[in-house]
Formats: sequence, C-alpha cells, structure tokens
Amino acid sequence: MKRKKVLLIHTGGTLGMVEGKPDNQLKPAQMHESVLKTIPELFELAHLESTFACNIDSANLDIPDINKVLSTIRENYNRFDGFVIIHGTDTMAFHASALSFMVKNNTKPIIFTGSQKPLRHIRTDARLNLVNSVEFATMEIPEVCVCFNSTLFRGNRTRKISIGRFNAFQSPNYPILGSAGVDIRLQKKNIAALPSGKTVFTELHHHNIGVIKLFPGCDTLTTAKCMINSKVRAVILEAYAAGNVPILTHSAIPAISELTESGIPVFIISQALEGQVDLELYECGQQARQAGAIGCRDLTFEAAITKLYYLYSEFPEINREKLAEKMLSNFSGEIS
Ligand code: ASP
Repeated sequence: MKRKKVLLIHTGGTLGMVEGKPDNQLKPAQMHESVLKTIPELFELAHLESTFACNIDSANLDIPDINKVLSTIRENYNRFDGFVIIHGTDTMAFHASALSFMVKNNTKPIIFTGSQKPLRHIRTDARLNLVNSVEFATMEIPEVCVCFNSTLFRGNRTRKISIGRFNAFQSPNYPILGSAGVDIRLQKKNIAALPSGKTVFTELHHHNIGVIKLFPGCDTLTTAKCMINSKVRAVILEAYAAGNVPILTHSAIPAISELTESGIPVFIISQALEGQVDLELYECGQQARQAGAIGCRDLTFEAAITKLYYLYSEFPEINREKLAEKMLSNFSGEIS
C-alpha cells in the first residue's frame, strides 16, 4: 500500500520548549526542525514533511496564528493525506474547535497534539503523543482531533482538564474517536462520515465577545452595562449546571433583558463539565429564557467562543435570530 503523506505543522508549546535562564522557566526553543531528527522512527509511519506556522507558548495564541495554520493547511491540502499540529496544551481546545469550523467539508485528519513535558525530557509524553498522532493522521478520519495520552478526541469537544497529568484532555459530552494501546483502535461509529461537498476554508476575524461567569453575588447588571457600552456583539453567560441563573438577590434577569433589548444575544453554556443546558428544567433557567437567553445545550466554552468568531466572520451582517439558529445547529459535531 502507498505510504500516506503527513505534514507536521509546528506552532510551539511545551513539546519544543527548553528551560530558560535564570529561573528554569519553560520557553519556546528552535525545535521545529529537530523534531523529526529526534524521533526518526516517525518516518516508518508515513512520508513526513515538517513546516512551521509560529513558535509560541500557546497562551499567546491569537487569531492571526490560527489563520496562519489555516493557510498552511489550505496551501498543502491536496499534497498531504493528513496533518499533525504540534501545539501547546493551554489553548489547544480553542484552536481545534476553531479549525473544525474554519475547514468546512474537511475530508482529512487534522490532529492536534503536544505534551506535558518537553521532548528532550527523559520522562516526556511528547514522543508517544507524536507517534500516535502521526499514525492517526494516516487513517480515514475526516475530523479535526486532539490526540493526547493515547486517546483520540473530537477537537471541538475537548477540554483541558489537568495541568499536571499526562491525560490532560477529556471529551465529557462525546465519546472518544480512538485509542492507541497494543493496537490502534478507531471507534468508527463516533467518527464523522466523509463529507461530499467542496472543502471550504474560512479565515477568522476578531469580534468583541463578552463573557460572564456566574458566582454567588455576581453583579451581572453592572457587567452587562459595561459590555453594552463597549459594543460587544454577543455575550456568553457561563451559568450553573442546567443553565440556571440567580433570580432573587443579584438576579441575572435584568442583565439578560438589557443585553437582549440592546440587540446583544446572550448564549448560556454550563459551568458543569458534563451534561446539557436545559432552560426548561428549573424556574431559574426558565426566567433566563423568557428574558431572551439562548441555551446552548452541550457546547463547550471553547467551541462557543470560536463558533461565534466563525459565524461573525462568515456572515458579518447576521441578525440575532439567524445567529441563534446557527449556534444551535450542528456544524462539525460540536453540539448534540
Ligand atoms: N503553556 C504551554 C502552552 O500551552 C503548556 C503546554 O504546552 O502544555 O504552550
């Protein structure tokens, strides 16, 4: 069988970092050229080439970096069977979510990976993560994924859940796509079908999105007024569990009403990792819905933010109703 062609795209992250002076803090190093020299066995898995999009701690990730990765994929889409993006773990779930919207009708595996320990460390997890990712990138997986700790996840369902453990990611509301034990196993029933339409690449533009995370005593009204003044286009309200908000003291209802009446849509997601927002379950959710809030079921925070960026970039003049309809429609497996 013909060997598959895989492009490694380096963006930075711990995998390629070294200890800096004077305090041994981890900083990006010039690693992108040496990854393939450090793990030459990767060539056994695929015909590999490597390229460079940026070299940052992914805490610095910004929209131009995401667009640079997109253009790297677009320019090489027809030459390669799959892509592996070496990335920091901090914002990997955001970037993977963004690309899942930006590459419409994706027919190829686009696998994000990174590591908790640099490649040069003796107990690194980078080596195994890279080997598994390259192997997954040779398979029929038309999805943007995260591969970490021998597990393949749908990218727009992942959350970074651990700072220090090798299993840094989870996909609390969608089953895994595959695992790499003694054998590589794909969970075919969980993987998207091959799309038939033309692949379309859409760049992201920056849009002003407000975020309110609820806590007892939160002054949502003052925050909402600031957001109206600073002309945010939409607000994501991270509410409790099934989408509940306070309706007694420090009620969130006036804030939701003022935002909605000012033409700013309010999207409710949950602070809980697992389960779905259901604004009909409690009075505290129902009143939020009646005030105009839109419950986003099991959309993650990362997917909600990047989907809003994407929708405003693709449809700059979109109105509130259309936006709400699209936020609740499934684009790339991000919402149940
Ligand atoms: N701060 C690092 C980054 O996201 C953490 C990591 O790579 O795991 O780039």
